[in-house]
Amino acid sequence: MVFYALYVWADLDNLTNLQPGGGCDDPNYPYYFKLRCENCGEVSAKATCVSIGEVVDLPTGRATANLVQKCKLCGRDGSIVMIPGHGTPLSIEESQNETGTCLMVFDCRGCEPIDFAFGDGWKAESLEGTSFDIDCSEGEFADYDEKGECPVGLGKLRSEFRVVKKQESRGKTKFV
Ligand SMILES: [Zn+2]
Repeated sequence: MVFYALYVWADLDNLTNLQPGGGCDDPNYPYYFKLRCENCGEVSAKATCVSIGEVVDLPTGRATANLVQKCKLCGRDGSIVMIPGHGTPLSIEESQNETGTCLMVFDCRGCEPIDFAFGDGWKAESLEGTSFDIDCSEGEFADYDEKGECPVGLGKLRSEFRVVKKQESRGKTKFV
């Protein structure tokens, strides 16, 4: 198994805490991306949708996963288990210093996640605390914050799946 952390970046304009509408661990938020087969390298034609609330039985036995998908070329099964509790919203500081933030960790067997697609159903706050619903599928967003009397917006959405290692220390699990 390999652990992949989904990192995101965006240029934020008077906005902070960009994240899926119900938070990074929103059980209903669909994370969309493509899969590359670890066995033959085939990339799935369509983006796959994975959410924490969606659970399927693994064909091999007792365990469950959030996704099981057969490679169309070689027929090998790939499976993904989402690991909540490790994501944080993208702050304006992380946006300015280009560090980005990890939203979710995926435990992948037999497949590799690539090409994350930003969809609808995101949210962020203005620096004055006004909440905005954002459709990230457009790639950019612009509005006006009445409270802060300033324009707010975002653009240049980027993402990357990084291979991370599981570390246990003092009873806590971290992915770095
Ligand atoms: Zn394959």
